[in-house]
Amino acid sequence: MGRILVIGGGLVGLATARALRTKYPRAAITLVDKEPQFGAHQSTHNSGVLHSGLYYKPGSARARLVRRGLSQMHDYCRARGIVHDVCGKLVVAATHDEIPRLKALLERGEQNGLQGLRWLTADEAHAIEPHVRVVAAVHVPEEGIVDYRGVVDALVEDLTAANVELHASAPATSIVRDGAGWRVQAAALDLRADFIVTCGGLHSDRLARLAGETPTTRIVGFRGEYFVLKPDRQHLVKGLIYPVPDPAFPFLGVHFTRLARGGVECGPNAVLALDREGYRRWAFRAQDAASALTFPGLWRFVMKYAGTTLYELRRSLSKDVFVRSLQRLVPDVTGDDLLPGPVGVRAQAMRPDGTLVDDFDFMERPGALHVLNAPSPAATACLAIGEEIAAKVEVA
Ligand SMILES: Cc1cc2nc3c(=O)[nH]c(=O)nc-3n(C[C@H](O)[C@H](O)[C@H](O)COP(=O)(O)OP(=O)(O)OC[C@H]3O[C@@H](n4cnc5c(N)ncnc54)[C@H](O)[C@@H]3O)c2cc1C
Repeated sequence: MGRILVIGGGLVGLATARALRTKYPRAAITLVDKEPQFGAHQSTHNSGVLHSGLYYKPGSARARLVRRGLSQMHDYCRARGIVHDVCGKLVVAATHDEIPRLKALLERGEQNGLQGLRWLTADEAHAIEPHVRVVAAVHVPEEGIVDYRGVVDALVEDLTAANVELHASAPATSIVRDGAGWRVQAAALDLRADFIVTCGGLHSDRLARLAGETPTTRIVGFRGEYFVLKPDRQHLVKGLIYPVPDPAFPFLGVHFTRLARGGVECGPNAVLALDREGYRRWAFRAQDAASALTFPGLWRFVMKYAGTTLYELRRSLSKDVFVRSLQRLVPDVTGDDLLPGPVGVRAQAMRPDGTLVDDFDFMERPGALHVLNAPSPAATACLAIGEEIAAKVEVA
């Protein structure tokens, strides 16, 4: 009977363990996470959006897996009673010069197989979102919102019921070859496995290195800060309102998100983080700062995107700057309407030349698979990612 160990219990690790149980009903499957609660990092510090595949390069793993993952996630939420809503999204061109990019986005969405995409005039857009500043918009009816904490909890329940051994508060600190398999220390646990899958999110490069690999990419954290709309101003936003993204930058730009559990969030920005799990503004962890600052890729990135990097820092420090970027989309929003909201840190793999790895990245080795990059929309796509990974795992 094969022994499989999954390291990292965010949505990707949990969904992988679930797909492995389906593939191997009798294998001994174990999952460890370093935190006391599963899904404590990106998987529950995100925008709560169910993406439909509008942005990703046609043919990429992200474009492919988000399509399958979205419909699987809908089925899963329905089956498990998880709060979700297919509320639809508007991507709005606030000025005429954004129209060519919005058209390109519509074409990309069509290439990726999105259903029901529609080009809207300003009047048509106002019928959906009355308070938006818009010259034209694209309506994405398949897009929605979900309670990802609910998804994490349901997956944990499923795995427990399916006899997967789950250990929280169990950081993997040593991963060494043991004959044809592996020996892994995680807190007091001394584990043996024939196959390991690492899904470490913000620490994914470190887990691969711990297992003896030398990934050329490094994880750089980009902190995303949100405000929330005060209850008496939430009527300004009906569903999801996104800007036309800047093609030079991998993030989608600050947006308005109605939350599955109620309320409206505004954000996130994207500030370089010197603490991979730093949820406070000046968070600093020496190991993370050294890892980022000694990486030539980071300096190349900062030189190339100096303007954007500084602007993001300024927007983080000044509520007025943040509010102005929100007013581009919804002019009636004022600083008085906003309360400080949650914070998340994105794990983004960067190459030594300073370019960002766009797509999901899985490193396959004998007896191991390391997830080196699982950025957005990996929460939406997690069930499909789990199946994709499970298909690559072979144990006797
Ligand atoms: C601000 C923000 C907004 C986002 N918005 C969206 C969105 O709206 N929709 C969407 O689809 N995606 C979104 N994403 C992306 C999405 O949240 C992530 O792609 C997804 O959650 C990645 O899941 P993961 O399991 O790989 O990582 P994580 O959830 O970070 O899980 C990794 C796990 O590994 C564990 N770990 C690390 N090191 C060790 C170790 N040594 N031993 C044991 N365990 C370890 C950690 O404790 C953690 O639980 C957003 C992300 C952020 C940060």
